[in-house]
Amino acid sequence: MRGRARAALGLLGAFTLGLGLLGGVGAVSAPEAAADGCYTWDRTLSRGDSGPDVRELQVRVAGWASSGDPVDVDGVYGPETAAAVQRFQRGYGLSVDGIAGPETFGKVYELQDADCTPAHFSWGEFTSGDGSGFSGGNTSTSNVRANVLRTMWKLEALRHKLGDRPLYVSSGFRSVSHNDDVGGAPNSKHTYGTAADLTGAPSLCELARQARDSGFNGIIGPGAPGHGDHTHLDTRSSRYWNAPSCF
Ligand SMILES: [Zn+2]
Repeated sequence: MRGRARAALGLLGAFTLGLGLLGGVGAVSAPEAAADGCYTWDRTLSRGDSGPDVRELQVRVAGWASSGDPVDVDGVYGPETAAAVQRFQRGYGLSVDGIAGPETFGKVYELQDADCTPAHFSWGEFTSGDGSGFSGGNTSTSNVRANVLRTMWKLEALRHKLGDRPLYVSSGFRSVSHNDDVGGAPNSKHTYGTAADLTGAPSLCELARQARDSGFNGIIGPGAPGHGDHTHLDTRSSRYWNAPSCF
């Protein structure tokens, strides 16, 4: 048990580093109290709170942003975070108060795996198609992993909103050379781990439409050149939606 708890802490350390957090590990409660192999919150969070635990929460609720306006993962529990928590609570049938307490964290624990990925996505779905894992991109491997994790949590929300339909990721992270090989845009979001291409059900347009409310402000889908067979979703600094056959 101790070994497992220590392993969990080790994982957390890696995860925390991956997110580029400052002092995150120190905020963790004793391993014995861990509710989850990935991360355990040890206080209720609401508007006005700040810290690494708020940041961890923001990563998990980022898919419940308002339309086209991603939740800032800044460690500050402002109105935008409270609104995202409310949407998360409503989406999963919890009491809706915008406060992250035991019920909300309980749902997060239920949704996350010990490696911090959400229940329905795994790291292997996002590695570069040339076998280079998460290396060789336009940012460090740890940044890529942190970005991929954030993308996964948005996709988890998208999946739930689409009626818990499985989503198929045809391309996640790409190394720069793999991106060149597949004809990706120069400096593509895929080379940072902030993008995912989806195929299949329910439909490319359905994916594109619902993504608008799931924290993706980059959407390129049907009707845009080269996007007849997948819908591209990403996170970028300002909104770019281009799916003229859908909306
Ligand atoms: Zn793409």
